Amino acid sequence: MYENWLVGVDIGGTTIKMAFISQKGGIIRKWEIPTNKNEKGKHIPSDIAKSINLHLYELGKSKDKLIGIGIGAPGPVNVLEGTIEVAVNLGWENFPLRDILQQETFLPVVVENDANLAAIGEMWKGAGNGAKNLICITLGTGVGGGIIVNGKLVHGENGAGGEIGHITSKLKDGLLCNCGKKGCLETIASATGIVSLALEELAYAEESSKLKKYYNKYQIVTSKQIFDAVKAADKTAIRIIDQVTFHLGFALANLANSLNPQKIVIGGGVSNAGDTLLIPLKEQFAQFAFPRVSEGVELVIATLGNDAGVIGGAWLVKEVLMNKSKGNLVSV
Ligand code: ZN
Repeated sequence: MYENWLVGVDIGGTTIKMAFISQKGGIIRKWEIPTNKNEKGKHIPSDIAKSINLHLYELGKSKDKLIGIGIGAPGPVNVLEGTIEVAVNLGWENFPLRDILQQETFLPVVVENDANLAAIGEMWKGAGNGAKNLICITLGTGVGGGIIVNGKLVHGENGAGGEIGHITSKLKDGLLCNCGKKGCLETIASATGIVSLALEELAYAEESSKLKKYYNKYQIVTSKQIFDAVKAADKTAIRIIDQVTFHLGFALANLANSLNPQKIVIGGGVSNAGDTLLIPLKEQFAQFAFPRVSEGVELVIATLGNDAGVIGGAWLVKEVLMNKSKGNLVSV
């Protein structure tokens, strides 16, 4: 009960998720605040600092109850400098997040990419179940990824390690991705990508398709409705999800062929489809994976949901700040 707490913070485009977390990874209090993107996001660190103070006050605790802050932000991160290279959503460019937040809070801060943070969270307390070799892919509005090898995140040479969403998946007629390339996995397997595929398929779909009837009536369709239609055996919906799982299975199998992971964790809003996504994905994965790689790996749905980032942040405080083991920050 006298144990000090870790702080996890996960900055997103619309909200900032925050939590006080025990050293065993239990959430003591969690909350969120809106992301203030005014004036190129310069108020974000002070908003975080004020919010931490407010919640400490409400709990009747003082700042010395906290050990440090592990924080994730979108975009490539320079983990040694604690800077965010570019976060278009927030208006940040070469933003010295670690230094500013340390000044605002008087606490030590460690900075990481948000998808990497979610991967660590799932490794520690989620579906990764402590696996030291793990690939985590987040299928949301975009596709994020985090790769852990021998318990360490792969950052790569300049912070772009684990960008699974930008594996080129469609070689011909691929859609333009936010990164400037065409045919990235993100343009197929994100919620947005699935809807784009659906719009193409619906143009040719048989009139008996319930999905087509729905679309004709409302002129809108979501990835959740497409998965629901798969459950109802709608042929058009099945064709759409077959394409998604084909490209996703192909990309993940080739990654696994290089990394030989123990777990592949599938998270993000699209993963709420559960077995409707996982069962066909496992079949596609199996046909492209090297047999010994297939034997060693388990594909699982993420279990922490929106808490993955803050729990990953807490792990960073524990492993990096408390142990002062800077080695964890260095690319493998
Ligand atoms: Zn891309």
